[in-house]
Amino acid sequence: MDEPVIELTGVAKLFDARGVIAKALDEVDLVVRPQRFVALVGPSGCGKSTVLNLVAGLLDPSAGSVRYRGNPVERPNRRVGYMTQKDTLLPWRSVADNIGLPLELACRALGRAERHDRVEQMMELVGLAGFGRHYPSELSGGMRRRAALARMLIYEPETLLLDEPFGALDAQLKLVMQQELARLTHLRQMTVLFVTHDLTEAIALADEVAVFTRRPGRIRRLCKIDLPQPRDIVSVRFTPDFAGYHDLLWNELKEEFGTGGDA
Ligand code: ADP
Ligand code: MG
Repeated sequence: MDEPVIELTGVAKLFDARGVIAKALDEVDLVVRPQRFVALVGPSGCGKSTVLNLVAGLLDPSAGSVRYRGNPVERPNRRVGYMTQKDTLLPWRSVADNIGLPLELACRALGRAERHDRVEQMMELVGLAGFGRHYPSELSGGMRRRAALARMLIYEPETLLLDEPFGALDAQLKLVMQQELARLTHLRQMTVLFVTHDLTEAIALADEVAVFTRRPGRIRRLCKIDLPQPRDIVSVRFTPDFAGYHDLLWNELKEEFGTGGDA
């Protein structure tokens, strides 16, 4: 039962931008096993979002293979929930109608009342109870991000692909959302591939952290984070083990920021 959920083998990805060929990824090998939380960190432009797009089935690899539960990913993968870096709500729909949209599209058999109940539960879960009738423009940035998270979680995907989901949030809200995500993914036994540029966030949440090289991205170092799950996202940061992982990974990561110095 520990067969990989996600498996990238020798993956390369070239982009042709108006005749200029750019290599985004080169020889990426990555295995994500069931119920594992894997974080990808690396400099901007190293191909992290491209990895998620490949797993989601929105892009094809130029070389190598991308598999999901043993099968090559050849079309958009409906077993994953994907929150992209720029995911936004539809401005003309209320918060509740945004969150319920995947159920309207994918679960047509579901009655109106049941859909309403699931939306209410989901809003409760992400701390948006009572805001269902509001429109996205009436919410703070953090609330909009929570609503996008709720919209992804509502159809109960077995795997989450998250691209810098909390990047734009203030520090306190970020901690709250990280704790919620940790709690939910543990509770629902989900498998997670999580992109972030925040090394602390990566170590606090993940079972494994992959450090990418600068473009073309390869995995420079894969580190198991041997801290017990589920974690208290705040207090874990003050443990000696955490500091050790941070030192180790920062030493790898900083070399990819051009100077090799203390950026
Ligand atoms: P990251 O998420 O790590 O910042 P991306 O995966 O978005 O990096 O991009 C990796 C590289 O591939 C970048 O140099 C980017 O400009 C290029 N790239 C990504 N998507 C496309 C595309 N659709 N067309 C052309 N180039 C792209
Ligand atoms: Mg990106």
